[in-house]
Amino acid sequence: TWMTRPETRAVCAALTGAGHQALFVGGCVRNALLGAPVADVDIATDARPETVTKLAENAGLRAVPTGAEHGTITVVSGGIAHEVTTFRRDVETFGRHATVAFTTDPADDAARRDFTMNALYATPEGELLDPLGGLPDLQARRLRFVGDPTSRIREDYLRILRFFRFHAWYGDPQEGLDPEGIAACAENLDGLAGLSRERIGAEMRKLLAAADPAPAIGPMAVIGVLNAVLPGADPRALPPLIHLEHGMPPRWLRRLAVLGGEEVSERLRLSRRDSRDLGLVRDEFGTTRPPAELAYRHGADLARDIVLGRAALFETPPPEGWQQAIALGADASFPVRAADLQGLEGPALGARLRELEARWIASGFTLDRESLLGRE
Ligand code: ATP
Ligand code: MG
Repeated sequence: TWMTRPETRAVCAALTGAGHQALFVGGCVRNALLGAPVADVDIATDARPETVTKLAENAGLRAVPTGAEHGTITVVSGGIAHEVTTFRRDVETFGRHATVAFTTDPADDAARRDFTMNALYATPEGELLDPLGGLPDLQARRLRFVGDPTSRIREDYLRILRFFRFHAWYGDPQEGLDPEGIAACAENLDGLAGLSRERIGAEMRKLLAAADPAPAIGPMAVIGVLNAVLPGADPRALPPLIHLEHGMPPRWLRRLAVLGGEEVSERLRLSRRDSRDLGLVRDEFGTTRPPAELAYRHGADLARDIVLGRAALFETPPPEGWQQAIALGADASFPVRAADLQGLEGPALGARLRELEARWIASGFTLDRESLLGRE
């Protein structure tokens, strides 16, 4: 596993060899306990950032200060990035906003994390450290704020979205959310308006990429979080969509398209490409273009998004044989080139090409170049 691979051992050894602590923390520990894939490895240490850099370099590893102000050094070992962060504790300054200071006690570090299941630590040997009782919560698949939910939310309103994001991924879909956590979210909705669109967008995309985001989106709609981040969004077509997807790879864009809403691309700061794809899928919800043509025009992924989205929104099953039609359309390539149409140019050439293409699509991509050009 990732914990015992030599690249990761080397990072830990660089720290522990000098008498420092090296503890895996956060998502990697949580996911290892769940048997879920681990994306990135976070390591917490009592060593100061300067020391982390020095020890890593002495061990022949590259150290990049990726978040020096937070005390994070990315240590690259065998091409794998490890985020090494000095233990921190919150120090109250003005009002509610906490600033951080370094500490040597992992229990302080745990107290400033968001949820108990994200505050689990493991030694390089794989021994679990659970200063806040996160393991029972993880086993019960229960999202519980570290400390008082209201004050934790007021330190960082993004935690409202993270509460639902982690519920979508790791919560129990049958059990409701922690009532105290829900109440704290509901009371503090106003704070969402102050978050950057980038942070909101990143959390929402992750949330919607869960196998089934519906058990999180439902309560978000009920208490008003959904409308606060995506005005006009409607969660009703989401459960039928998830049902229709039937274990296909999750696509956040498809779920987002089905939720709808106003100015979605701007509010979630989508990339140019994602924004174009989202607009295209939503536009095609309103057309009757058949699956094969959708796949030919937009590719297989977007065609599936459109077919499944329409089915969920209009409560009609997808057309018979749609999956094969998409495979066919995605592979089809129009056999006529502009050079084949001599004597035409400009708009007339474009119009003629589109006409032949429409005829070819209508034939189910069966007409070849000769029959298309010959039949004048
Ligand atoms: P993922 O699998 O999505 O990466 P993760 O748990 O690693 O899940 P990250 O957003 O990468 O989530 O954050 C890493 C860890 O840092 C979290 O597990 C949590 O302990 C802490 N953390 C991150 N963001 C916050 C926050 N806004 N407030 C408090 N703690 C946070
Ligand atoms: Mg992570």
